Amino acid sequence: PELTKEDVLRKAKDLDVQFIRLQFTDIFGVLKNVAITIDELEKALDGELMFDGSSIEGFVRIEESDMYLRPDPNTFTIFPWRPNQGAVARLICDVYNPDGTPFEGCPRGILKKVIAEAAEMGYTMNVGPELEFFLFHTTEDGRPTLETHDKAGYFDLSPVDQGENARRDMALALGQMGFEIEASHHEVAPGQHEIDFKYADAVTTADNIVTFKFVVRTIAQRHGLHATFMPKPVFGINGSGMHTNQSLMKDGKNAFYDPNGKLELSEIAYYYIGGLMKHARAIAAITNPTVNSYKRLVPGYEAPVYIAWSPRNRSPLIRVPAKRGMSTRIELRNPDPSCNPYLAIAVMLKAGLDGIKNSITPPPPTDRNIYTMTEAERLELGIESLPGSLAEALDELEKDEVIKSALGEHVYSRFMEAKRIEWDNYRKQVHQWEIDQYLTKF
Ligand code: GLU
Ligand code: MG
Ligand code: MG
Repeated sequence: PELTKEDVLRKAKDLDVQFIRLQFTDIFGVLKNVAITIDELEKALDGELMFDGSSIEGFVRIEESDMYLRPDPNTFTIFPWRPNQGAVARLICDVYNPDGTPFEGCPRGILKKVIAEAAEMGYTMNVGPELEFFLFHTTEDGRPTLETHDKAGYFDLSPVDQGENARRDMALALGQMGFEIEASHHEVAPGQHEIDFKYADAVTTADNIVTFKFVVRTIAQRHGLHATFMPKPVFGINGSGMHTNQSLMKDGKNAFYDPNGKLELSEIAYYYIGGLMKHARAIAAITNPTVNSYKRLVPGYEAPVYIAWSPRNRSPLIRVPAKRGMSTRIELRNPDPSCNPYLAIAVMLKAGLDGIKNSITPPPPTDRNIYTMTEAERLELGIESLPGSLAEALDELEKDEVIKSALGEHVYSRFMEAKRIEWDNYRKQVHQWEIDQYLTKF
């Protein structure tokens, strides 16, 4: 049910809210917020709150820095870990220009644009993400380490597992904020966890992802732990993914389901897969946007490397989980939680829609383990790889006009510029690995 301005004002009063955080993300998905007092809430809800856009990464230059925040009343929620009296609430906002037009650098606005394109074709999108993260110890003075609470092989000996306690509190806090938690479990690697929440429409899910990351980090800190969504914090063990389950609805039905289709999938589902596969290499720049992202996308750690799909097999990029009917969906496995979820969902949807518009038929499913194939076998089957580095992904994005058009010129150019610099800074570093390999050898 849609909330109105009046609903928010009443709720805030009933819940004794003192402070409201107005939140939005920069183009890299970093959550920003401005705190206001309850007295300013009405003005804020009318979209009259101005802020300096030039201090937000990727937004605007000093000369054109006035931006306005328009809170979405449906995102009103209380921070359950803060006091009940004088409570703290938050609202997620869209960013607008002074002339009242949507700001083209607002990631939430970019997602809404692609959603509007889908709506014109009669579709709405549902998205269900699976976020993984690590919990690490902190030092006395609060600095994060790479030590985990559960040393592999020994964890069942410890009487109190700090990580499990923290995870339970995270699930509780999220539940109080309106999340429907579906599963919460320890992941494969020591110190690695996953908490899954219920799917929703695309904007709600992107909002949920930014909220989720912020809540998980906050609760971890209260347990003296550091939660990280960095894709590959430790060499030699699994990294953290953000598998993204997606489906399209049309006329109240799941458009990917066809009881008479091959594998009970509709033609639309196949085209959507075809679109995702066609644009996979460019999408990676957005769904796997850091130097570190590509250290996860290597063989041997349950992360995808090859551009293939399968109804069963977990090694490919795209899996179609067994559920059918209203639960029919496609799981894209390369995204990682360092992405900006608004942009990531926007480009995934855009790729799928392009598949539908152009009737892009995917290759047949790959049911064999691709990791055990030789390069010649892969070549013969036409199985390509995801980009091997951020630089390669950026080159792919540069060539893909469809994906670029989803981002729009403003975000595309700023993203590209910042990421090229990020890559260049990384490229020039001398890493410990090189010292270990070469210092004494040469
Ligand atoms: N952690 C794995 C990844 O990097 C995924 C494990 C799983 O299947 O949940 O994608
Ligand atoms: Mg998992
Ligand atoms: Mg999964």
